[in-house]
Amino acid sequence: MAIGTDSVVSIHYTLKDDTGTVIDRSEAGEPLAYLHGHGNLIPGLEQELTGKNSGDELSVTVPPAQGYGEYDQGLVQNVPRRALRGIKDVKIGMRLHAQSPEGTQAVTVTKILGDMVTLDGNHPLAGKSLHFEVRIEDVRAATEEELSHGHVHGPHGHHDH
Ligand code: ZN
Repeated sequence: MAIGTDSVVSIHYTLKDDTGTVIDRSEAGEPLAYLHGHGNLIPGLEQELTGKNSGDELSVTVPPAQGYGEYDQGLVQNVPRRALRGIKDVKIGMRLHAQSPEGTQAVTVTKILGDMVTLDGNHPLAGKSLHFEVRIEDVRAATEEELSHGHVHGPHGHHDH
């Protein structure tokens, strides 16, 4: 069957950045299963998979706007190190959960200069073009339960319950 809304799709994928560095890939023998048409994949990839079939292979380049968003300088803030008291050994690359008026926000430590620490609230892949190599392993219809939960159940799904 062709991929459409409410299909459960299993894919093997490799994700590279502009320099050809592998950022992410599915585990050998364990394809990623997702529910199509429910926002579980980035829009640029989901769109290209629509209408494809089991066994198809495709190369997809997704621009930032269709991926994890453009890089937003407004999400970068400098805070004094004492604002991070309770966190030992603050290091570049560390992921933290910062409290803000809008709630908890995931941030990455991107710079430490003297007493100032730079926290970046952008998704680590924001602003990047994403290059996917995808092979579609399986396409099936979702069950009623999967549709009501909005995600895939079973061996290759998010969770089992
Ligand atoms: Zn569930």
